[in-house]
Amino acid sequence: MFLNGKSSSDTDTETILGTSYRNTSFVIFEETIQAASNDILGPSKIILESTVILHEFCHLLGLVNLGTSMVVNHEDATHSAHCTNENCLMYYLIENGKNAHHWAKNEQIPQLDANCIDDLRANGGK
Ligand SMILES: [Zn+2]
Ligand SMILES: [Zn+2]
Repeated sequence: MFLNGKSSSDTDTETILGTSYRNTSFVIFEETIQAASNDILGPSKIILESTVILHEFCHLLGLVNLGTSMVVNHEDATHSAHCTNENCLMYYLIENGKNAHHWAKNEQIPQLDANCIDDLRANGGK
């Protein structure tokens, strides 16, 4: 679902770009995405939106440790269901609009790292 609004959990230091719900659905906070990509130093809206959609979709696939078992432990101990690798698509800050300029500066969508791909393969992925 694409919401014309923002999360009620937003704070001064964290704005939530998307949230997944169980293994069935996710919400994209379009107002927050537009605000985060409006800045001249910020990421393009296409990159930001694509990244958040992929991140939430991977939660639906069970990453990280959210229904898909880990081959090796790489779940962030303080941010459950997220990867410890800060270059991975499943790093927790990907969901934070206040951080978007940091990871999106290369105008590239972050990829899953080897640990996350291994988990999906072990769960039947190709
Ligand atoms: Zn997430
Ligand atoms: Zn990962």
